[in-house]
Amino acid sequence: MAQRLVRVICENCKKRVHYSAEVLKESGLDPAEWMQVPFYEGPGCLECSGSGYRGRSAITELLDLSDRIREMIINRRPTSEIKRVAKEEGMTFLRDSGMGKIRAGVTTLREINKVTFLD
Ligand SMILES: [Zn+2]
Repeated sequence: MAQRLVRVICENCKKRVHYSAEVLKESGLDPAEWMQVPFYEGPGCLECSGSGYRGRSAITELLDLSDRIREMIINRRPTSEIKRVAKEEGMTFLRDSGMGKIRAGVTTLREINKVTFLD
């Protein structure tokens, strides 16, 4: 299991923000799907000492090693191939987990981009 901590948006100054299609694309997000999703950011206030964040939340990646994946690792299959199969088998990747936090308004796109990588 992999885990990363992301900062949580300050509830006191949390504001809805809009990202342009370009910004979404740079983050590997399909604008058609994500233009409708409300994103949030904190501009900063006294309560969060101007950082826009207060507290932390964990995003996790769970890899349940099935026989099929174990075999692929033993046979030194390419990572991309193993990832594809893992996804088929319902594995949650860090980035997916992070996107869930963004959808829930817990953290920012910038924060997720900082702790996870695009495939
Ligand atoms: Zn604040």
